[in-house]
This record gives sequence, C-alpha cells and structure tokens, in this order.
Amino acid sequence: MKITGIEAFHLAIPFDHGAPKPSQGAGGMRTTMDSVYIRVDTDAGLTGWGECFGFACCPVTHFAIQRVIAPMAIGRDCDDIGALMFDLHRRVQSGGRNGPMIFALSGLDIALWDIAGKACGKPIHTMLGSNGARKSIPAYASLLRLDTPQNVRKVCGDVLARGYRAVKLHERTLEAVAAAREALGDDIPLMLDTNCTWDLNMSVSMARDLTPYNLAWLEEPLFPPDDYKALAHLRTTTRIPIAAGENLGNLLDVERILDAQAVDVVQPDPIKMGGITECWKALQMAQARGVQAEPHSPWYGPGLIAALHMISAMEQTCLAEYYYADLEGWPLGEASIPRNGALSVPQGPGLGVEVHEDVIAKYRVG
Ligand SMILES: [Mg+2]
Repeated sequence: MKITGIEAFHLAIPFDHGAPKPSQGAGGMRTTMDSVYIRVDTDAGLTGWGECFGFACCPVTHFAIQRVIAPMAIGRDCDDIGALMFDLHRRVQSGGRNGPMIFALSGLDIALWDIAGKACGKPIHTMLGSNGARKSIPAYASLLRLDTPQNVRKVCGDVLARGYRAVKLHERTLEAVAAAREALGDDIPLMLDTNCTWDLNMSVSMARDLTPYNLAWLEEPLFPPDDYKALAHLRTTTRIPIAAGENLGNLLDVERILDAQAVDVVQPDPIKMGGITECWKALQMAQARGVQAEPHSPWYGPGLIAALHMISAMEQTCLAEYYYADLEGWPLGEASIPRNGALSVPQGPGLGVEVHEDVIAKYRVG
C-alpha cells in the first residue's frame, strides 16, 4: 500500500470552559483550541487521520507537514510503519529531534496506524495487544488556567457535577490550590501542573508549602523542562510525586529522564514524540522500570484517541487526561466527549472514529 496524498489542517476552535478566557503570552487571551490535523490517503482507498502538536507553533508544524514531510512521504510504501518512520526520522534529523518536525512526524505516524487498523480490520488497541477488556477510561479534568480562587472553586464544582473524580490545575499559587482542595474535598485526587515556571529553589520552597494539599503529583515545576538533574534533586526534597514528560521529543529523552530518576510519573505525548510507534515504546520502557506512565493527552482529536487505545492496552492502569472545555464544534463528534467523567475506547478498525470533515472545514485557519 502506498501513500498517495497528505494534507494538513490548522484548526482553531472556540471553546467555553466555564470561566473567563485564560491569558496567554503578550497580554492576549486564549480564545481557541488550536491543533494541526493530518489526513493521509493511500492507493488502497484507505484514509487515515492523525494529529500533531500545534498550540503556539501551529503554523510551523503545518508548514513542516506540507513542505517537508509530505513530499518525502508521498509515494512511499506504508505497510511497515516502523521502517518508514525510521527512515523519515533519519532524513529530518538535522531539523531537530524535538519540535515541529517531530510533531509533524507524530501526526503522520498516528494516521498510518489508523490506516493499518482499517486494512486489517482491527482497532489499534487490539494491534497493541489489548484483550479488549478496558472499554471505558476514566478521565481527569485538566483545567485551563483560572487565575482566581473564585474561578477555581466555580469550575471545580462544575467538573464534579459532570462526574469527574480527579482534577488537575494549571495554576501557580497556593491560594488557587487551597481553593481547589476546599471545593473538591479530601477524597478527589488533585494534581498541579505549573507548565515549567519556577527555578529549583522556588520549586523546593513551593513543594514544601504545597505539601498540606495532598497533591497526587506536581507536574513540570521547573524551567527548563530538560533539566533532569534539577528535577531529580527536587524529587529528593519532597514527598509529592513529581511528573513530567510532555516535552520529551523522542525515546532517548524518555530514557534520559528515567535514568536520572527525575520523575515518579512520566507523561510521553503521542502527538509530540513520534506518534503511537514511539510513545508506545516509551510507555513500555517506563512500565518495565516500575515508573507510573500517564500519556499526555489534553487534545480533542486523533491524539486523544491514540492515547485511549494505548491506555486500554497498557499493563498499568492510568487515567486519561482531558482538557476540560466544551468546543464550539467537535471534529470527532461524540468520540472525544467524556460522559460521567469517562471516555469510551473506540471499537472500530484503526482509530475507530468518524472524522467530521465539515467541522474541520469550518474551523480551518487559512
Ligand atoms: Mg502538563
């Protein structure tokens, strides 16, 4: 089977998360969820969909697909995904082993798994060795930045009412964490993700002050995210479990963070580190070393669905990360909408989802 066409779509979809829109760099407000989807067509008449990390670098990821990856991949045989992806990783290595070029390859890889599943009539979780027992994955509500304790209390109440039984904050103050703990009660697992904010001294001090709030983990407290030595040191100073991994660009990075004993929870992301092929290896590596693995998946497209298939096939159990917001349009329809705090694992071949191309056309940028 040969690849006959590749098209990238930069999507920007308005959302509502039950609070004022979060601020983002340069004083602006974040008003849309942005991502890059990729459609791959083959000479067998099968089409696959993938997703690439975009966020602030959507235009660059989009460009990488259209101008670099697509010309290299069109016409290639895709029956052996591992062999094709290995060759493409080698060809673009001078463009970096992390970043938009790898994000672009990640989406292509997911689309190829979708196609492979459709070709053999099996869902991806079965191809990964799942016995099919996990049909529903509990999700934690990953909250966008809310800034004030009032907003935190309000949205924590909203997510409990919708059936979520675990919550992650993206806040940076003790007041916000205290407000969440108060609103959620003592029994709901609460995580805190600071998105690489503090230096080591500040992280040590904040971890000490956060101890009373019984965090299930503290995620990416440090900048830069690849200072594994500092992260490992922080880990020796606190009993709060330390999580990181969404910024790892490849399997060797995962090995490095594990070798450094820098994390209790590792979070490789299929749309950032090479798709299902590489992320599945990372999850296997973490599990073999007894480290809790939690795929990073705050997405609404094929990236989220890829994570669900992997979680359902993992030996360890873990929650799915779900970015808590209602989109104005849903590219995958019901497939990416949790019910009572859980997401269904699609049972159809490949990703097992229907992609609504009308929604993609409506929210496509440019
Ligand atoms: Mg995070």
